[in-house]
Formats: sequence, C-alpha cells, structure tokens
Amino acid sequence: MSFDAATRSSLVELGAALYDRGLTPGRTGNLSVRVEEEIMITPTNVSLGRLDPERLSVTSVDGTHISGDRPSKELVLHQALYRHHPDCTAVAHLHSTYAVAVSCLADLDPDEPLPTITPYFAMRVGRLPLVEYAPPGSERLETEVAGASESSRCILLRNHGSLAAAPTLEGAVDAVEEIEETARLFLLLGDRPGRYLSDEDVAELRERFPSSPPGPAR
Ligand code: ZN
Repeated sequence: MSFDAATRSSLVELGAALYDRGLTPGRTGNLSVRVEEEIMITPTNVSLGRLDPERLSVTSVDGTHISGDRPSKELVLHQALYRHHPDCTAVAHLHSTYAVAVSCLADLDPDEPLPTITPYFAMRVGRLPLVEYAPPGSERLETEVAGASESSRCILLRNHGSLAAAPTLEGAVDAVEEIEETARLFLLLGDRPGRYLSDEDVAELRERFPSSPPGPAR
C-alpha cells in the first residue's frame, strides 16, 4: 500500500470536518494527496462525511486507476494543479455556499474575483484567478484550469466552487476554507466601501511569511 494508514485517516478526518460544518454539501467536493508518482483521491459519488480509508482511490499521476474505488471525475482538475506545482502534495475542491455564490456574480474581475480582505487570505490563498464556466468533467474545464494553474495554485471556478493546491493536505484545506470565509465576508460587506489590503500590505506580508503562495498578478 503506497499510502500509509496515517495519510488515509487524515484525509478521512479532514473530509468529515468539512462535511460536518456544511462546507461540502451532499456528495460534492474532493480531496487528494500525492506521493511520488501516485495520487490518492476521494472516490466518485461519495460524501466527504462518510469516507472509508480502505476504499480511497489510488491512481498514477496520469490518472490510471490502481486500487480502491473509482476516482472522482474531478481528478483531472487535481492533476492540472499537480503538474504545474511540483512542491504541492495535496489538492482540495469544494462546492461551498459562499464561494459558489461569489462565482455566480456577473461583474467579477477574472484576475482577482475576491479582494484581499484579511492577511490570512494573502498567506493561505494569494492569487485566485476566476476560470470561466464549463461543464464539470468537460475537456474545456480541464483546459481552463490547466491554463490558470500555471500561475496560481488556487482557482475559483465559475458557477461551481473553489480549488486549491498546497504543500500539505492541511494547507490545501486551509486554502479552500479561507476562500469560503473571504467570499462570506465579501458578500457581508456588500456595496459598502471596503478597506481592503493594499499592494504594500500584501508585500509586507510576503516579506514576513515567504512561504505564502503567489500573490495577485499586478
Ligand atoms: Zn466540483
């Protein structure tokens, strides 16, 4: 077994924690980890609240099924991020309510659909491009995500949800949770003039926390 029991149980525990807090409704969302040339991902059509550690799906990095249940159909989105971010060993994807709500707003800046409201967004998410709508599982969505992941490890998918890669599974989960929290704050602030973090504020954070993901493109 290429993925040890501790890795399997941390994926199951984080899935349950996301589900219990209503961040991944129904049988949506998926989590994966990569070790060398293999990916372990949550199976297709399962609830993240009821994962079985022995039935998690293992594939090669090119997507060939090796063991466990059939992989999530969204494996291709995870593969795109892994391809462009060799330092990242985990990916999380959620259809969480506020992130999806923001992804449906008509007038979003595709380079920066959410402002940097808190320092934690800069430290855990950084650059968050918006990928245009394409049907789940389509080649078009895969191509869009592959393009966006060249310069970013976090992505907002139009009418769909959030996607994030990080060097650890906890980091990937922190990033999608931070996207959700920022989307919630953004909608809560509404049309009132907001004081968001400036480029200088973000630069200062990047100096203090050099391991932060890439910042917004300017
Ligand atoms: Zn999805």
